[in-house]
Amino acid sequence: MAKKIIRVLGIESSCDETSVSIVEKSNNKYKVLSNIVKSQTDIHKLYGGVVPELAARAHSDIIDKLIFLAFRKAKMKFDKIDAIASTAGPGLLGGLLVGVVAGKSLAHHLKKPFIAVNHLEGHAMSIKLENNLVYPYLLLLVSGGHTEFTLIERFNKYRRIGTTIDDALGEAFDKTARMLKLGYPGGPEIERYAKNGNQDRFKLPKPLIQEMNCHFSFSGLKSKIANIVAESKCNEKFKRDMSASFQKTINDIIRVKTTNAIEKCRELIKGEVKVVVAGGVAANKSIRHSLMAIEESEKCKFFFPSIKYCTDNGAMIALAGIERYEKNKINKLDFKPRPRWPLDKSAVFMKGKRAVEGSG
Ligand code: AMP
Ligand code: MG
Repeated sequence: MAKKIIRVLGIESSCDETSVSIVEKSNNKYKVLSNIVKSQTDIHKLYGGVVPELAARAHSDIIDKLIFLAFRKAKMKFDKIDAIASTAGPGLLGGLLVGVVAGKSLAHHLKKPFIAVNHLEGHAMSIKLENNLVYPYLLLLVSGGHTEFTLIERFNKYRRIGTTIDDALGEAFDKTARMLKLGYPGGPEIERYAKNGNQDRFKLPKPLIQEMNCHFSFSGLKSKIANIVAESKCNEKFKRDMSASFQKTINDIIRVKTTNAIEKCRELIKGEVKVVVAGGVAANKSIRHSLMAIEESEKCKFFFPSIKYCTDNGAMIALAGIERYEKNKINKLDFKPRPRWPLDKSAVFMKGKRAVEGSG
C-alpha cells in the first residue's frame, strides 16, 4: 500500500494570536512543517486586556501574509495541501470570522476541503504534536478564556467534568497583575514578581475549595485582592508579596481540584490517569512543579506541551484538522463561526451557576 502522507494548513485567530501552521502526518507521526505565530500583545497592553475590535483588525491585517509565510517556511506549494482547517469557535467573533473566511476562501480557490475546528479540541490534541500519548487522558485547560477539566476518551469523545463558574484562570492572573500595576499579559509578570516575594504574607480565599467537585471560581479571590490593594501602599515589596501569595493560593486550588478530577476519572476509566495541562497558564513553572509534586501520591502522570504549543497556535488546529480529515469530518463552506462552542455538547453552561457537588 502506498505510504499516505497528509498535510493540513491550520489557522488560529480566536483571541489575540494570529497563527498559521502546516502539519504533516506520516506513519502515524506528526511533523510541524511551519508554525508562524504573531501575538497582538503590543496592541492590547495599552488597555490591560484584549480589545475585540482591535484584535479582529489586527488579524485581518496580517492573515494573508502569515499564510504565505507558513507555506514558504514549509517549502511547500499551495496545491500540495490536503485540507484547510480554521478555528471556528469558541472565541471572539471578529477574530473567528477573519480565520474562517480566510480558510474557506483558500479551500474554495484550491478546491480542497474546509474543516471547522473547535479551539478547545486543538488544545486537547496539542500534546500529540510532540508525544504519541494514547487515549484516554484528562485535560486541564487553563488559558486566558477557558478553565476546565475534560476527559478526552478518544478523538471526538469528550466529557467535561469541571469548569470555572466565573473568570478563567488566565483572566485572574491578568486582572490581579492589572491591580498591582504590573505589565500585560499579567501571568508572566506575576510569576516573575512572585519569585522574590513572601507567599505567606497575605491569606487569600480559595473559593469552592471545600466542594468535592472539579469546579473553579476566582471572582471572590479577585475582590479580596482589590480590597487589600485599595488599603495598601502598592510598592515593589507589596507587589512581590501579593504576587507570591496569589500564585501560592492558585497552586493550592489547582492541586485540590486536580486531585478531585483524578478521583472522578478513576470512576470513569481504567488504568493510570494521565493528565495533560495545556493553555497559556500552563507555561507557569510553579504551577507545573506544584502539580508534578502530586504525581506519586495520586498515582498519576502529568504531561505538558512545550510552551509554544501551550499558548494559542495554528499547529494544534492543523493537527485536529488532520484527525477530522482522516475521519472524513469536513465542513461545508456555509459553516458559521461559533463564539460559544463547548467541546462536550452535553456540558451545562456554568457561568454564574452555583457549583454544587455532582453538577457537570
Ligand atoms: P492563551 O489564552 O492560551 O493564549 O494564554 C494567555 C493567558 O495565559 C493569559 O491570560 C496570560 O496571562 C496567561 N499566561 C501566560 N504565561 C503565564 C505564566 N507564566 N503564568 C501564568 N499565566 C500565564
Ligand atoms: Mg492568547
